[in-house]
Amino acid sequence: MAHILSKSKYIRGLQCDRALWLDVHNPRLARYTAEQMRRFDRGRDFEYAFKSTFPHGIDISAELKRNVDAYPARTAELLDRIHTPSPLRGTPPNLGGELKSVAVVDEHYLGSSPKLGEGDRREAVVEECETITLFEAGFLYDDVLVLADVVHKRPDGSLDIYEVKSGTALSETYRRDAALQHYVISHCRKINTFSIVYANPDGGFIKEELSAALQEQHEEIEKNIAAMKAIALATNEPDTPTGAHCLEPYGCPYQTHCQSGVRQLALF
Ligand code: SF4
Repeated sequence: MAHILSKSKYIRGLQCDRALWLDVHNPRLARYTAEQMRRFDRGRDFEYAFKSTFPHGIDISAELKRNVDAYPARTAELLDRIHTPSPLRGTPPNLGGELKSVAVVDEHYLGSSPKLGEGDRREAVVEECETITLFEAGFLYDDVLVLADVVHKRPDGSLDIYEVKSGTALSETYRRDAALQHYVISHCRKINTFSIVYANPDGGFIKEELSAALQEQHEEIEKNIAAMKAIALATNEPDTPTGAHCLEPYGCPYQTHCQSGVRQLALF
């Protein structure tokens, strides 16, 4: 199902309704500075470094690329497929560690346990796949799509979620971003922990678990989403004037457009 809002659009909408509308209807008008592009690259490198600490993680974006509306179904398939209870007829082997995917697991298992029958193999694979780690797992609720950097499913089915930020301090913007993800994902799955991971100035990662604080923001987020969906679906570009809000918390990429005085119409 197609989404209306994403995490980035929601964050944009918190800054300016006009920027949200432009992100939805004419993102090609955005102009990023060289410094902003360098910051994106640094953030991506930091995120990769953290993901590499989960060597068996499955990257959904590698499979589905830009087809983001397909991410939630694939995420659910991976999380549910490995969690399907099944009567065990054989003794499962101890494969150890976390396994990469159902297909790889099956191949791995077949190679390591030739003595069991076909049925035993399949069921043992289910038994061994109680946990899994996904990168860019997709969740959709209330027309909002979020992609979580790292999602680890625990044996009881609940999720440990890590949102990775390359800054060296926990900013209010990071918290708002994480709060939206917590809101959406908690309506789809049981969350065990939700941590923001950021850079330790001395090297390595700092993880802060924030579930309780993020939960407190759900009511406000629900209202924000309703208001932002109305803006996103409006026909006309809002006539919000430029001002101090164009620079905080981020330099808005639509400043050239807004200063031109031209307004756009939505092409639905
Ligand atoms: S430049 Fe300012 S007014 Fe225009 S979309 Fe961005 S934040 Fe809004």
